[in-house]
Amino acid sequence: MINKINVVEPYLPDYSKYANYIKEIYERKILTNKGPLVELLTKRLENHLGVKNILLVSNGTIAIEIALRLLECKGEILTTPFSFIATTSVPLWSGCTVKFSDISPKTYNMDVDLLKSSVSSDTCAIMPVHVFGNPCDLDSLELLAKEKNLKLIYDAAHAFDVKFNNRSVLGYGDISTLSFHATKLFHTVEGGAIIISDDKLYEKAKAMVNFGFENGDITMVGTNAKMSEFHAAMGLCVLDDIDKIKLCRKSIYNRYLDKLCGDFQFQKISHDVEYNYSYFPILLKDESTLLKVMKALNDDNIFPRRYFHPSLNTVVSMSFDQCMPVSEDVSQRVLCLPIYPTLTIIEQDKVIDILNRGV
Ligand SMILES: *Cc1c(COP(=O)(O)O)cnc(C)c1O
Repeated sequence: MINKINVVEPYLPDYSKYANYIKEIYERKILTNKGPLVELLTKRLENHLGVKNILLVSNGTIAIEIALRLLECKGEILTTPFSFIATTSVPLWSGCTVKFSDISPKTYNMDVDLLKSSVSSDTCAIMPVHVFGNPCDLDSLELLAKEKNLKLIYDAAHAFDVKFNNRSVLGYGDISTLSFHATKLFHTVEGGAIIISDDKLYEKAKAMVNFGFENGDITMVGTNAKMSEFHAAMGLCVLDDIDKIKLCRKSIYNRYLDKLCGDFQFQKISHDVEYNYSYFPILLKDESTLLKVMKALNDDNIFPRRYFHPSLNTVVSMSFDQCMPVSEDVSQRVLCLPIYPTLTIIEQDKVIDILNRGV
């Protein structure tokens, strides 16, 4: 039986190491609510990433929800149509409206010049995404947010361990959110984090994720977004291996760049970036070529993903009426290739051969 090659395989750390943490939890009988493993993971992540005020939560979607609440965002959120659905559904779920602004065809991130002209008097916040871990134009966005008095929230779900000018991108903006879902570079099975620049807001966020409890009193409307000890245990194990994980991914990434020769375009990673090699997207000539290539790969048990597809402004059930020509074009032609530490060279070369053979 030939192994199925997916776009990603969740990373599973050493079993006995994980089991030891679980044994500890059994003995301590603290399963959640600010347990010691959550505290330890918080501190270790702050050190590793070089940022302060990390709040661990139960997933990356609720992380965005809490960011919007904390910054009291009402009205219009300006965001990218080229992202995972959560970037758009959370503002809608939270009672805001969503307005899209198109992306750059090279970086796949929001085009700041277009964004400038999209800001209206209703705009409360801008919410860019570091798409596939490629940092946005951080300085221009900061300037724009300041100039127009807007909140700046980064959906940084892909940007774990990404640095710009030797500084984590997670330290930019009012808030950055992370996803620690099993398919992400660093994971806790399910989980996420909020990185909050303002110390007072950080304190407020701690209460907000725990039903609004502050020193025993209910001081605000809250929700339940706590990370459990079992999830933190997985995070501690994966964090031990993160440098190894990134090295494996880097060599796969560079092998694709070296060996792929055909009518493909690659994402332009910005200068002065320490990248995390979390995805390997390619753009094909057109959608019909993409569908043929997909079929050829699928026939060989290789399953890349059309990520992101469709462009979010075209999601029928949300009935938006904006056209986003660049995002729609990229969405129709983008394919994310398999990249994960256990992908073998033989498997990767099979992917490369099929792509280079053409259709
Ligand atoms: C994965 C992801 C999310 C959602 O995170 P979950 O932890 O799955 O809730 C949000 N935004 C982007 C860009 C993502 O890739």
